Amino acid sequence: MAKYVIIGASAAGISAVEAIREVDPVSTITVVSEEPCPSYSRPMISDLVSGKANFEKMLCRDGQFWEKNNVQALTGQRAVSLNLKEKYVVLDNGARVSFEKLLIATGGKPFVPKIEGADKKGVFTFTKLSDAESLAAEIEKAKSAVVVGGGLIGVSLTEALVKRGLKVTIVELQNKILSLILDATASDMVANVMERAGVTIVTGQSVQRILGKPEDERVVGGVVLTNGNSVQCDMVIIAIGVVPRAELVSGTDVKTNRGILVDRFMRTSVPDVYASGDVAEAYDFISGENRLLPLWPLAQLEGRVAGYNMAGKKAEYPGGTAMSALKYFGIPIISIGLVNPKNAEGYEILTRYEPEKRLYKKIVLKDDVIVGILLLNDIERAGVLFNLMKNSVNVKKFKQALLSENFGLATLPSSLRKRLYLE
Ligand SMILES: Cc1cc2nc3c(=O)[nH]c(=O)nc-3n(C[C@H](O)[C@H](O)[C@H](O)COP(=O)(O)OP(=O)(O)OC[C@H]3O[C@@H](n4cnc5c(N)ncnc54)[C@H](O)[C@@H]3O)c2cc1C
Repeated sequence: MAKYVIIGASAAGISAVEAIREVDPVSTITVVSEEPCPSYSRPMISDLVSGKANFEKMLCRDGQFWEKNNVQALTGQRAVSLNLKEKYVVLDNGARVSFEKLLIATGGKPFVPKIEGADKKGVFTFTKLSDAESLAAEIEKAKSAVVVGGGLIGVSLTEALVKRGLKVTIVELQNKILSLILDATASDMVANVMERAGVTIVTGQSVQRILGKPEDERVVGGVVLTNGNSVQCDMVIIAIGVVPRAELVSGTDVKTNRGILVDRFMRTSVPDVYASGDVAEAYDFISGENRLLPLWPLAQLEGRVAGYNMAGKKAEYPGGTAMSALKYFGIPIISIGLVNPKNAEGYEILTRYEPEKRLYKKIVLKDDVIVGILLLNDIERAGVLFNLMKNSVNVKKFKQALLSENFGLATLPSSLRKRLYLE
């Protein structure tokens, strides 16, 4: 029997191993990981496609990680079911792995809607290393691609494909791209830059059917959109989003909503069973509720909190929120928290928009506390703003300065500066 069993060896799973080992250097840890390779940076799979990074650059831990941490690593093996009463995990080869404490860190899987023709050669999803490797291998032969989904994954992949010389069309169901992290102004700014780089952006549409090539019906030749228009292409990449891989707990007493529900200690509703990362719905300090937040640094933090608690050191998850720091087509972007409140009532919105400088800044306030930050091109003061937001500081006295050119630490009242930075 292993004292600790962890399913999934990515951001959450690896961080949990490290936390456990800080507290408990000796007890057995078994990690079950479907992916055969060591832990790698999932956000960098686009860089593998663009050629900016190779596999070595993407590795999160060196090849000795398992040995150094005295972990029994069952890589290339999938957990297929759980018996939470008798406390064991069943693997795809039939083996049983017993545990005292279990962490489910199985992440997310691509959401793939039913599309006629999706079985053709040249259709990909894009969430794991093997997807990036298969895609990269096909790019040499392709001239054009349709990316279904204009969210974070779709846009980062589009940039990689453009770098590789492909003509890309993004098809987005919403009326703007990056709708989860940008508002309409910011989305337009990014869309303009992308269009200037040769990308065609089609919004308010989805792909209804994937067509074959005239010479070979089994190979992708184009798509038909919901409005009946067709777009020729050599590959289709479905990048609509990820959904939690929570199927292992279905039929058990582990409570789920869209993901596995966890408390601030990453405990599920079943004793000795924890969950972290993209599979879990953890606390959001802005909404004050649990929700899915599929982000790498949050998965790491949640994994660490789970690891400590599993090993007996009490650790409370401080909460996370939607947070993206990106650079798309040369535009640096910071988007944190509630940047686009659906119902503006009760919110105060400060903006500074200078199109000639391609500068856009927006701060969303509720009761004089920052709940959303959106910065394009000038992202220098993001750290100070985030600190105010994280600490729920009432900014009433200096809010007009928040978006000014010389806003910085010196703008803050000295008592506040001391409280935030010196305590
Ligand atoms: C293309 C892309 C770009 C991204 N860009 C960013 C970004 O810029 N910034 C950011 O913050 N986040 C980004 N993310 C999100 C980030 O990668 C995730 O939040 C993070 O990887 C979640 O980590 P995790 O450990 O919860 O799960 P995952 O990284 O999804 O890993 C889960 C692991 O568990 C394995 N597994 C699942 N089920 C089983 C099973 N039954 N048995 C054995 N093994 C199993 C999986 O194969 C996988 O290896 C991006 C994601 C993608 C796909």
